[in-house]
Amino acid sequence: MPRTEPIKAARGVRDILPGELPLWHQVEDAAESTARRYGYEEIVTPVIEPAELIERIGADTDAVAKELYRFERPGMQTLALRPEATAGVVRAYFENGLNQAPKLARLYLIGPMFRHDRPQKGRYRQFFQFNVEVIGGASPAFDAEVIEIARGWLNGVRIESLRLELNSIGDHRCRPAYLEKLKDYYRPLKSQLHGECQLRLESNPLRLLDCKVPQDQPFKAGAPRVTDHLCDECAAHWDSVQRLLTAAGIEYQHNPYLVRGLDYYTRTVFEFYPGGATGQQDALASGGRYDGLAAEEGWPETPGVGFAGGIDRVTELLREKTPLAPTPAADVLVIPNGDMPMEATEVARICRAVRPTAADYEPRNFPAKMRLAEALGVTWAVILNPAQAARRMARLRDMASGDESEVAWDDLPSKLA
Ligand code: AMP
Repeated sequence: MPRTEPIKAARGVRDILPGELPLWHQVEDAAESTARRYGYEEIVTPVIEPAELIERIGADTDAVAKELYRFERPGMQTLALRPEATAGVVRAYFENGLNQAPKLARLYLIGPMFRHDRPQKGRYRQFFQFNVEVIGGASPAFDAEVIEIARGWLNGVRIESLRLELNSIGDHRCRPAYLEKLKDYYRPLKSQLHGECQLRLESNPLRLLDCKVPQDQPFKAGAPRVTDHLCDECAAHWDSVQRLLTAAGIEYQHNPYLVRGLDYYTRTVFEFYPGGATGQQDALASGGRYDGLAAEEGWPETPGVGFAGGIDRVTELLREKTPLAPTPAADVLVIPNGDMPMEATEVARICRAVRPTAADYEPRNFPAKMRLAEALGVTWAVILNPAQAARRMARLRDMASGDESEVAWDDLPSKLA
């Protein structure tokens, strides 16, 4: 029984079409070349991971708590589609012995991530990230380096105007005492906060700072700032990161409300926004230091820092700035005047030795085929008719000038080269 309704894509995912892919590849190529310029190596990890790995490291994030694609089958390991890459990259680093000498790994990964989020523009259920991770590096110079890479990538695709927001959220030594201060500040205000933040006040008070609900905003200004309560080590790290960025000519804004609500995140957090973007707009890239992540996964304690950039969002931003110019897939189109698939195939094969070549096999009327050649934007048409083909001859048409000449099939490569 044929269906009455054609089958469409799943909600929240999208096709990336041939016309979009040149821009998409520019963004990916800029990512790769920037990462390589800094000595980073590519890693590919599975899109499926044990659900436990993902859930352990993200329990309190929307990406894990609400948006995880999770597959549970009786008697089988519960799996999840990765919502982000860092957990898997850290797992792979240890599991494959990259933590043996030289210990320091500079890695990058480009691939799809999955979140069962409410679909909207710039927010998809399958989206692609460029991830950069340094595992085994504690120096603040690594924090500055990954920030420089993120900026270099975005500048590399001509997104020059950027806003970098930066903060430090301390570590296991200083953050607990700060969180107590934050709770002390918010407790008397609890009844004025929205429901979710009332719960967060005790479970994850840091998240009160990045709450976007309007009713909670007025209280932030008076909240204690984590950077005023760092231990000596974290303060020195925070100071170094800022000095390194300044020395690199990278402007940033200290955003005291920029946080990550998970314990394994330490010290530096940052986000890049398009210049001029305000408030609720989504970041192009975000990252930070995660010195507690390896241990959270059950591996030896190992520092790490990195970021994830959104390839979909960066591509969309570029497309808004520069409308797509269609690029023809082939330089040459072989156009038989009549039904001559055998000849068209052979001539196309000859041309293909020197130029991308397609052939129009359909026995349609000839003017329609020529109009298609115009529309496709090919540089050359190779026109066949039965009489010429019998002599292994064709007409070579320069589509821009309209000039035509008779050419032997075997001379086509030299004419087209
Ligand atoms: P996050 O892992 O949430 O910090 O996201 C890192 C980057 O990935 C963001 O700055 C976005 O550019 C991109 N991103 C995150 N979620 C989505 C999504 N649902 N659709 C498209 N891009 C996303």
